[in-house]
Amino acid sequence: MRVGQGVDAHRFAADRRLVLGGVTIPYELGLAAHSDGDCVMHAVTDALLGAIGAGDIGQHFPDTDPAYAGVDSRRLLRAAVALARERGWATVNMDATIIAQRPRLADHLPAMRDCFAADLGIEAEAVNLKATTTEQMGFTGRGEGIAAMAVVLVARTDAP
Ligand SMILES: [Zn+2]
Repeated sequence: MRVGQGVDAHRFAADRRLVLGGVTIPYELGLAAHSDGDCVMHAVTDALLGAIGAGDIGQHFPDTDPAYAGVDSRRLLRAAVALARERGWATVNMDATIIAQRPRLADHLPAMRDCFAADLGIEAEAVNLKATTTEQMGFTGRGEGIAAMAVVLVARTDAP
């Protein structure tokens, strides 16, 4: 087995949809990025790439590449899952923490969980998502953006 971690953050911007964990969340601000700005999806993708020793999301999907402009970040995770499969790795479980002062995310976590379970090819029970604030401290606390951290565990698919 191997483990990988991922960390990501994006700043809030007007006239953007807020997409977190594959779920569109009603809010007056979205996250600025070349892609859809889904920092939770990016953190999990980086964690998976880390677990299989495949570098990071920027190497595989450069933000200078017009092909990824406004891309649904679930596509990036699915591409990383395909790469992991090619290399003989399957995801065992994942755990992610979203750091946001607002909006409140608790009600949206189950839908995010379903997205990750589908994309990673694991049971919903093997996907854990948490949302926390930083009690008004730092850039997330001041409402300037949202950050996410994730760990992913993988196992050899040819293991006995
Ligand atoms: Zn990102």
